[in-house]
Amino acid sequence: MSKTQSYTKKEVITQTTSVSYDIIVIGAGPSGMSATLMAINRGLRVLLIEEAVIWGNIYNVPLLEDIPILLSAKAKDNELLNAFSEQLAKHQGLVVYEKVLSLEEQNLTLKTIRTDKNIYTSRAVIIASGMRNIVPDASKYMNKFLGRGVSFSAPCDVIFFLAQRVAIVGNNEFGAKIALYLADFVQEICFIVDGSFISATEMIKEAVIKNPKIKIFFGHKITELLGDEFLQGCRVVNTKNKMDVLGVKALFVYENMSGNAEFINDKIKLNHGFIPTNENMETNMPGVYAIGSVRDAFHKRFLYCMSDALTAVNEVQNFLYFNK
Ligand SMILES: Cc1cc2nc3c(=O)[nH]c(=O)nc-3n(C[C@H](O)[C@H](O)[C@H](O)COP(=O)(O)OP(=O)(O)OC[C@H]3O[C@@H](n4cnc5c(N)ncnc54)[C@H](O)[C@@H]3O)c2cc1C
Repeated sequence: MSKTQSYTKKEVITQTTSVSYDIIVIGAGPSGMSATLMAINRGLRVLLIEEAVIWGNIYNVPLLEDIPILLSAKAKDNELLNAFSEQLAKHQGLVVYEKVLSLEEQNLTLKTIRTDKNIYTSRAVIIASGMRNIVPDASKYMNKFLGRGVSFSAPCDVIFFLAQRVAIVGNNEFGAKIALYLADFVQEICFIVDGSFISATEMIKEAVIKNPKIKIFFGHKITELLGDEFLQGCRVVNTKNKMDVLGVKALFVYENMSGNAEFINDKIKLNHGFIPTNENMETNMPGVYAIGSVRDAFHKRFLYCMSDALTAVNEVQNFLYFNK
């Protein structure tokens, strides 16, 4: 496939023939929204399928880093993200709110996507379904309280713990940012940090340390969750083997992440839930691309999403052109 060949809008439009869409994009986070808008600009027929809300993960991030073109780090304040919504809204029927359940390959240029409501076909697919928290393997003791105090999604579950004392475990940028997010809703947050420092950038560390609602327990680990039907507290131990009990109604766990790729159903071999691709975002299924945080790549950042999207859309154009 030649990387130097260029295609005009007219050439691309004439490629569309009998199938419903040229591209289906799964997931309306920054990656999926970028890919969708870029594909529209190239005259491709696109459908964007989102199971929840547009903006994806970014929607709940209180402070956004590593996007130097933003005037404000507050995601909801900034015009960049609003620009996505406004542009998508210009195209009727572009976004459907459905959960993708499976992806089947009929032949080289025909893929079938089943959602909880419909079946769609397209010639190419861009998977942009992001990542989520997962239950850590070693934490079986948490299962008893799953949905009864233990949560893996602060944005979904915080409503049940308004003005309560809660805990969060996960010494990484996600845990630190979720602590900041929770601070707007709960009474107090016990941030359980396994080491002697918070693994996040200076901006986030400072925001966490200065937040009067966040109490940091450096060098602590959870040994037991307490309660009968619902969580009532966590037993913790520090590096000097001193035990303590934190009375909390919720524990938010942000330790391990995995790609949202269950609908692949073994058709692509995943790496810890993430979809391997080559540098062109191609998966091992021809005509199927993966971009953004669902992709098996080390960095999970907003700006990479756009770059992935651009690469994938260019590759889709090539794929459609050479597989008419
Ligand atoms: C707590 C936290 C803080 C972060 N802070 C920053 C930061 O400061 N700066 C930065 O650059 N990046 C940050 N990131 C990373 C950033 O959020 C991701 O890089 C970005 O959101 C990835 O975008 P995406 O579109 O690939 O995936 P997502 O944003 O996760 O979007 C995926 C979308 O797919 C949808 N979806 C999933 N499965 C299905 C399905 N089966 N059917 C239909 N739809 C589906 C989801 O509902 C979601 O809307 C942070 C991430 C987290 C978790």
